[in-house]
Amino acid sequence: MVQLNHAIAVIGGGFYGCSVAEYLAKQGAEVILFEQASDLMTRASYNNQARLHNGYHYPRSFSTAYRSRLNFSRFLHDYRPAIATNFVKLYAIARLSSKVSSRQFEYFCQNIEAPFTPARTSFADLFSPRLIAAVYETQEYAFDAAVLRRLLAERLAKAGVKIRLDTPIEQIISSISPAPMQVIDHQGNSTPVEYVFNCTYSGLNGVVGITPTQLKLKHEITELSLIQLPPELENIAVTVMDGPFFSFMPFPDRGLSTFTHVRYTPHAAWIEAANDGLNPYEMLKNCDRATNFGYMIRDAQRYIPCLETATHQDSLFEIKTVLVRNEGDDGRPILFEVDANEPRIVSMLGSKIDNIYDAYTAIDDYFKH
Ligand SMILES: Cc1cc2nc3c(=O)[nH]c(=O)nc-3n(C[C@H](O)[C@H](O)[C@H](O)COP(=O)(O)OP(=O)(O)OC[C@H]3O[C@@H](n4cnc5c(N)ncnc54)[C@H](O)[C@@H]3O)c2cc1C
Repeated sequence: MVQLNHAIAVIGGGFYGCSVAEYLAKQGAEVILFEQASDLMTRASYNNQARLHNGYHYPRSFSTAYRSRLNFSRFLHDYRPAIATNFVKLYAIARLSSKVSSRQFEYFCQNIEAPFTPARTSFADLFSPRLIAAVYETQEYAFDAAVLRRLLAERLAKAGVKIRLDTPIEQIISSISPAPMQVIDHQGNSTPVEYVFNCTYSGLNGVVGITPTQLKLKHEITELSLIQLPPELENIAVTVMDGPFFSFMPFPDRGLSTFTHVRYTPHAAWIEAANDGLNPYEMLKNCDRATNFGYMIRDAQRYIPCLETATHQDSLFEIKTVLVRNEGDDGRPILFEVDANEPRIVSMLGSKIDNIYDAYTAIDDYFKH
C-alpha cells in the first residue's frame, strides 16, 4: 500500500464513491466525499437486484464470470453482516430462445469452478418441463443495501473521510499542476484538491470540466418490481437463462423479492451522445411510472405456474448505466478512465457491486504511474 498525502475529492456517495473514499483515506489521503442526495447509497446502489454475483449470470463473458468468482468470496468476507444466504438460488435454462444450452451452462460452470448440482425434484417440479430444459441449484447470495450503507458510513467515519451531503458538484476548475483544482458545488462554494475521483454512475458525464468518457454509455430507465412470492417459492430465487427471460431475488431491506424481466424491466433506453442535453436523473424524474409488472408476471408464469399468485407490492425505478461495448456479451467490467485533458481526474463506473476490488487495483496502478 502506498502512502497518499493528497487532498482528494470523491464525487458521488454510492457504493463506489464511499468505498473509494475509504480506500484512499486509509492510505493517508485527506478525502472529502460529495453527494447530491441527503443520504449515502440512495441511488443505483440501493435500487438494484441485490445479487452478489458468483459468475453464473455471465456465460457469454468468461472474464466477467471469472472476476465475479474471485471477487465473490472477498466481498462475502468483507461485508458478511450485509449478506443474505437464507435462500436457494436456482438457475434454469430455457428450451427456446436461450443463448446457452444446459450442456453449455454446465461446461461453463465447470470452467469457472462455480458449484452447481441438478435441482432436487421438489424444486425442478416448480418449472414447466415444456419450456425449461434444466434447473440447477447454485451458490449465489443477496446483499442488503441498507446494511451496506450502515457499514460504509461506519468505515468512512473511522477512516476520517469528510462527507458533504446535499451537495451536487457542478464544475471542476482545472489548473496547471501542482496548483490545486477547484471543486465547485451548486452554491458556488469552492474546495481545492489535488485529485478528483468521479463516481457518479449515471451522472458520470454531467460535471462541467470533466471530459466525457471515451467509452460510450447506455442509460436505461428500469423498473424493479417488488413482490411477495407465493408460499411454494418462499426462500427461493430464480434466474432463467439466457435471453428474454426473468429473475427474482430476495430484497432483504424490504423483506420482499425483486422481480425483473429482460423485456419489460427497461422502460426506455438511450445511448449518450455528446451535448445531447439529456440528464439521466431528470429523465427518470419525468418518466411515466406505470408498472410493467402485469406483462412480466404473465410471461413468467408460463415457466413457473405458481407465480400466478405472486403479488405486486411496489416498484423501484432507477437509471441503469452500462458500457455500450458490452451490449453483445453482457460483460460487466469496470470503466476506469483518466480524464483526457486533466490527468488528475479519474472517472469510474463499477457495473456491479463486487467489481469494487477491480477498482482498487486500478487505483493502485494509477498512483504507481
Ligand atoms: C436495475 C439495476 C439492477 C442492478 N442489479 C445489480 C445486481 O443485482 N448486482 C450488482 O452487483 N449490481 C447491480 N446493479 C449495478 C449496481 O447497482 C451498480 O454497479 C452500483 O450500484 C454502482 O454504484 P455507484 O456508486 O457507481 O452508483 P450510485 O449508487 O448510483 O452512486 C452514484 C452517486 O452519485 C451521486 N451523484 C451523481 N451526480 C452527482 C454530482 N454531480 N454531485 C454529487 N453527487 C452526484 C448520485 O446521487 C449517487 O448517489 C444494478 C443496477 C441497476 C440500476
